[in-house]
Amino acid sequence: MKRILVTGGSGFVGSHLCKRLLAEGNDVIALDNFFTGRKQNVVELMDNPYFELVRHDVTIPYFAEIDEIYNLACPASPIHYQDNPIKTVKTSVMGAINMLGLAKRKNAKILQASTSEVYGDPHVHPQTESYWGHVNPIGIRSCYDEGKRVAETLFTDYHRQNNVRIKIIRIFNTYGPKMHPNDGRVVSNFIIQALQNKDITVYGKGQQTRSFQYVDDLVEAMVRMMNTDDSFTGPVNIGNPDEFTIMKLAQKIIQITGSKSKIVYLPLPSDDPMQRKPDISLAKRVLDWEPKIKLDEGLVKTITYFENLLKNGIEK
Ligand code: NAD
Ligand code: UDP
Repeated sequence: MKRILVTGGSGFVGSHLCKRLLAEGNDVIALDNFFTGRKQNVVELMDNPYFELVRHDVTIPYFAEIDEIYNLACPASPIHYQDNPIKTVKTSVMGAINMLGLAKRKNAKILQASTSEVYGDPHVHPQTESYWGHVNPIGIRSCYDEGKRVAETLFTDYHRQNNVRIKIIRIFNTYGPKMHPNDGRVVSNFIIQALQNKDITVYGKGQQTRSFQYVDDLVEAMVRMMNTDDSFTGPVNIGNPDEFTIMKLAQKIIQITGSKSKIVYLPLPSDDPMQRKPDISLAKRVLDWEPKIKLDEGLVKTITYFENLLKNGIEK
């Protein structure tokens, strides 16, 4: 039995990861300050004596006897990470320092949930890990993008300087059940709007692209990455290379839900990347992994989740 710390463990991805790690017979601590995480996401795990939910902020050091750390603590949706941008930088940077310090003391393996945002508004398409990105250092997305870039730097330096056993994955847009209903991300926004027959808010002309990965595919890749040989540190792209325009996504969700919603156009937020698609050759080769769940299949599962959430009321 491994003792595993998951920071951001009550968030969207973190709660799925905790469930998977418990199912594999591990002892799991979910650490969270509940900024965007919800107790409701992990309530089904509470009866398991090998699961602990700890209210703690990663900007403050934390100590526990652990073998592995998955560092996910950080708001991921633009409206939440822009709500308090200075705190977002602190969470990424001080959180990374605190968790790397813990990994160093305990000789634990540590995985960083980095992001496709490190590529910014990319000039290389699809994005490969060797691309250094095109990121605005002073824009409204910078607190997240640059925070995550510094975290990658810290991980790499702790590895080079202190031999900390690190793993870096760059996650592309991920969706699925347990996404925060009000987090403003495109999949949750469009599904909730469609289910309520409200206007679907497409930003810009909807011609920007994203590649959407279902959460189960991501969790599988995270566990595989953690289990790789110490010599493989990444970074490695984890995402679904099927690329869609935002307009196409809106049309798909309207069609699957049978909604009467109309599409309305709102201004494109500044620095919104025009295109995003991962090159996943490295993940295929090293992790023997590729996403299995197609967008239509994943959307149906996610729509069912939000239908139930709307029916039963949204709890904290
Ligand atoms: P989320 O917002 O649902 O989860 C983040 C969790 O971290 C929440 O539970 C939140 O309360 C917690 N948190 C935030 N600040 C904290 C702090 N200072 N101390 C302790 N806990 C804190 O987002 P998610 O989609 O589950 O993302 C998880 C991780 O994966 C994030 O690091 C995110 O940057 C990364 N990521 C996600 C996506 C995606 O599409 N979902 C894409 C790229 C990267
Ligand atoms: N978007 C949109 N309508 C919404 C929410 C988002 O058109 O209600 C667009 C947004 O401008 C972006 C894309 O959808 O181009 C993905 O946005 P999200 O916030 O989900 O993720 P990110 O921009 O971080 O990839």
